[in-house]
Parts: sequence; structure tokens; C-alpha cells
Amino acid sequence: MTTEEIIERLKSKKVKLTTQRMEIIKFVSEMKEGHFEAKELFAILSKKVPSLSIATLYSVLYLLVDLGVIYAFSDGQKTIFDFNPEPHGHFICRECGKIEDVEIRELKLGEVKGKREKIELVIKGICEECLKKVKD
Ligand SMILES: [Zn+2]
Ligand SMILES: [Zn+2]
Repeated sequence: MTTEEIIERLKSKKVKLTTQRMEIIKFVSEMKEGHFEAKELFAILSKKVPSLSIATLYSVLYLLVDLGVIYAFSDGQKTIFDFNPEPHGHFICRECGKIEDVEIRELKLGEVKGKREKIELVIKGICEECLKKVKD
């Protein structure tokens, strides 16, 4: 998503575009993909925006999640922010912690009574490289 597209979405929600928010939006629009914890993003962004607080970063990240600009899921312990908002699942290696995107080809779910808001598909296991190490 381009910076302009993200700004349009924020404007439609009447969100004020502060300097800090703009810096985060610019950064997000440059990142096409990747999976990050908030603290990793904070380490990168606080260099560009020294006055940034982790609380502000969290609030902007969750705002962008609400607007469908980015995606957030849990690896079971922490929240991972994903710059690819298209529906997909994740494979997480329990040895090295690597996260890989998994295409969802077919998913049949039972009916949910109530309002369905989000599906998180996380597959846990051991990646190819770690499997090789075990064998050696
Ligand atoms: Zn691994
Ligand atoms: Zn992903």
C-alpha cells in the first residue's frame, strides 16, 4: 500500500496525521512484507523518530491493523505485525523461530454463532534447515 493510500484510509477515519504517525506510515508503506515484533520495529523507528514512545508505536500499529493496512497475529506468546495484509497463514519454526508465509488454498470452517472478525492460521513445527541439523 502506498503512503497516499494509507493516508486516505486514515483521513476517512478522521485520524489526525501527526509527524510521528506520518513517519510510521512512511516506514510501513516502504515495507512490502516481513514479520516483526513491536520492539523490533521500535528499535528501527526510534532512530528516525527519537521522540517516539513504544505506547505511541503500539497505538499506530493497531490503528493500521484496524484499517487493514497491516496484519497482526499471535505466535502463541507475542504479537507479530505483518506488512502483508492479504489473507495467509504462517508456519513458525519452534527451533529457530523463523516465520514463513503459507498460502491458504482451501479452508473449510464450521459456522460461528456470532460475529466473526478474524481468522489466525498458525502452523507450528520445525523448518527444513533445522530438520537437516537434527539429522547431521
Ligand atoms: Zn528452524
Ligand atoms: Zn505473513
